[in-house]
Amino acid sequence: MPAHDYDVIVVGGGLGGSALAKVMTDAGARVLVLEQEARFKDRVRGEFMPPWGVAEARRLGLEDALETCGCWVPHLEMGLSQPRDLVATTPHALPALGFSHPEMQEASLQAAATAGADVRREVTVIGVEPGEPPRVRFRNSGSAETLSARIVVASDGRNSAARKWAGFAVTRQAHPFLFAGVLLTGLAMPRDMAHYFLNPAVAMVVGLVYEGRDRFRAYLAYPTEGMERLQGEQTLPRFLEYSRRTTVFPNFYDGSLRCIGPLASFTCDEDWVEHPYSNGVALIGDAAATSDPAYGQGMSLTLRDVRTLSEALLGNSDWDSAGHDYAVEHQRYFSVIHTSCEWLRQIFQEQGPEADRRRAAAMPRIQEDPTRIPDHIISGPELPIDEGVRARFFGEPA
Ligand SMILES: Cc1cc2nc3c(=O)[nH]c(=O)nc-3n(C[C@H](O)[C@H](O)[C@H](O)COP(=O)(O)OP(=O)(O)OC[C@H]3O[C@@H](n4cnc5c(N)ncnc54)[C@H](O)[C@@H]3O)c2cc1C
Repeated sequence: MPAHDYDVIVVGGGLGGSALAKVMTDAGARVLVLEQEARFKDRVRGEFMPPWGVAEARRLGLEDALETCGCWVPHLEMGLSQPRDLVATTPHALPALGFSHPEMQEASLQAAATAGADVRREVTVIGVEPGEPPRVRFRNSGSAETLSARIVVASDGRNSAARKWAGFAVTRQAHPFLFAGVLLTGLAMPRDMAHYFLNPAVAMVVGLVYEGRDRFRAYLAYPTEGMERLQGEQTLPRFLEYSRRTTVFPNFYDGSLRCIGPLASFTCDEDWVEHPYSNGVALIGDAAATSDPAYGQGMSLTLRDVRTLSEALLGNSDWDSAGHDYAVEHQRYFSVIHTSCEWLRQIFQEQGPEADRRRAAAMPRIQEDPTRIPDHIISGPELPIDEGVRARFFGEPA
């Protein structure tokens, strides 16, 4: 076996990198995490974790760390009938979690360090070289260093440079929507539920989640065409106007509402790598697959990546073969979530005569029976997904 400095070098100490470092260190591996930020700040990222993601966090021993950054969300209001009781209606019998993303990053990275991983911050990775062994080049206070590992795990997020350096081909699916988020205080909304409302009449989606200490994350997906880009606090009045127009609960935005974080919007485009392992380098989290943020799947998929990759590595002394096993399984579960979100987009967001025809068949039946809506975004990729599920949702004969 070639000599190497570490068993695992992790590029990026966000949720994916920290969770993988913790789990592998707990199992006895020598792990180095390289993170560029000295302190995490609000980048407007995921703060709602549905029950299937909570189940993944529990399996990885991260649930307590996440809970300290937010609070449990036992109910989901979609404006369909009664708010949904998540514990009673999900296969994992768990609530959702709402939390501050930067606080979650600090807590997850601290969990990795407490487990015994070497965590280096304010370190910028400037190159990844696949091979036997793979190597990572990074810069720290002006000086450059190169270290090798049995495996390099790139978890450097949606704009991953590591996957480019390592030569992965990226598939992109563009969607004509933007997703904006802002942190608010003082909303007039029940705190024990998340609000998620898809309104095809205006092609917009609102999401609201309470995350403790009088903080609410507000999201809005809106069409790219013909609408002002929501970016910066000066666009808050427009953000609120669109949100009120979308939801059946515009009064939630009443009260002594105030902006307490940046307002930013991002494309809903999806980028993924078909086989996120090659020649000593594995991709996890958004670096492997960036899902449409409007459906809130990114963090759950990230934790699923961590579980799948760590189980493969810990169950097989041939890490090259384990990396390929991870990549095959990644494509399976990512495809399920991707397909389910595609269907939701076709019914609830897309515009035009074809979309109207689909809705005319689907919506009356969904209003009678909301269980026709595929539940993968709440319950996870193990739910069945086939032509029967699609036809039932689209109101077509099976
Ligand atoms: C607006 C928006 C809303 C979202 N809402 C939800 C939601 O409600 N629920 C949900 O589940 N998901 C949501 N997501 C997705 C979720 O935020 C991501 O899937 C998740 O954060 C991915 O985690 P990660 O660890 O892969 O990447 P990141 O969280 O991006 O972490 C990457 C880390 O790598 C570091 N890094 C990058 N480059 C380098 C380098 N060269 N050297 C060293 N360090 C580096 C970064 O500093 C960062 O800490 C949302 C995304 C967006 C954009």
